[in-house]
Amino acid sequence: MGDVSDLLDLLPIYYSRLFPFADYHRWLSYGNAVTFSKREFSFTLSNDIYIRYQSFNDQKGLSDEIKRVLPHKIDIGAVYNVQPKDQRRGPNFQPVERELVFDIDMTDYDEVRTCCKGADICGKCWKFMSLACKILDSALRLDFGYKHLLWVFSGRRGIHCWVCDPAARSLSGQVRAAIAEYLQIIGGGEFMKKKVHLTGDKIHHSVKRALDIIDPVFVEMCVKEQNMLGTEEGIEKFLPILPNDEDRQEMKVLFDKESTSEARWNAFLQYIASKRTGGDRKWYLYRHLIEEIKLQYSYPRLDINVSKGLNHLLKSPFCVHPKTGKICIPFNASAVDKFDSDKVPTIMTLIEEINAYDVKDKTEEETYELNKKRIKDYKKTSLNKSLHVFQEFLRHLEADRREQRLKGKISADSMEF
Ligand SMILES: [Zn+2]
Repeated sequence: MGDVSDLLDLLPIYYSRLFPFADYHRWLSYGNAVTFSKREFSFTLSNDIYIRYQSFNDQKGLSDEIKRVLPHKIDIGAVYNVQPKDQRRGPNFQPVERELVFDIDMTDYDEVRTCCKGADICGKCWKFMSLACKILDSALRLDFGYKHLLWVFSGRRGIHCWVCDPAARSLSGQVRAAIAEYLQIIGGGEFMKKKVHLTGDKIHHSVKRALDIIDPVFVEMCVKEQNMLGTEEGIEKFLPILPNDEDRQEMKVLFDKESTSEARWNAFLQYIASKRTGGDRKWYLYRHLIEEIKLQYSYPRLDINVSKGLNHLLKSPFCVHPKTGKICIPFNASAVDKFDSDKVPTIMTLIEEINAYDVKDKTEEETYELNKKRIKDYKKTSLNKSLHVFQEFLRHLEADRREQRLKGKISADSMEF
């Protein structure tokens, strides 16, 4: 992507022809115009000016303002008890509703990935995102019963999950914190060597489910591709996880006999098997060690502060990443393995696609006179697929809402008897 001035040329076209304001409004109003009007939006402008507490009465209010100020970034905040725009100085101004959100950022995987660092991301590291998405998606659905999960690529090096069920949107800060901590099993900071501690005889069913997702890919992904034991550095990171010095020394000797990451991993598995069956008095130290190590190297790293608060801002779907030009597109969790962050449409490619379509269309004008007027701009571009994912999510949300209303009506009617 060129510089910021390119973005300033392209954003007017993006916001006027491609940003899906109607569906976006359908989403954030949740069937209630008042809910929408009390939602906080915040904009980052080209000169890095950051405006918080924007709110809009309706779709037109929002789209007019976005087209006028051309934000480089849009963040979505909470729904407040009053309209944020006017009332934010009031004494009782407070958030009352908010999607439960999760933020997973590739930079938090630097200690376990060897292919890239920092903001870089490749097909090998995307596998960590893919695991994170599958593990969280199943935990949120099966442990908490949530159904309306919107997964979004963050535009550069991470993914977001917006849990939009009514029950999730009305959670208190305390319960959000409890859910986030339940899902956060990687503990300690940089200086904690062993970051996962599974206690008790049986592994918790949610962790067990995560392991079932990790197991089939662990060796290929962590042991081979990330070469976790293939280098001195990798071994130095690994040995401190073991319970005591004796193990570390024995393991070091065994590792030195092998030359590949995979052979060393197998030597480790054998060593643990001998500890478990060899009548070691401290067998319990090794009880879950293999599982703990698998989790430490691959379980989702969550930025749980984002999930805990109601008023934390999170980058909006469909906004443009100012550095990469990539669109923050929704994707289908069931197709996360196929997601390729290099193929995410950018604002530049989208506008080229519209132009190319229009040029072609013009030459065929007479034949296609009727179709031409009906086709929506996004359908001319590679944004179409992501819009379908978003619309499918909205249809489920709306169908559920209709069903709940009907149930409410039926139970209200039966009360009259
Ligand atoms: Zn990578």
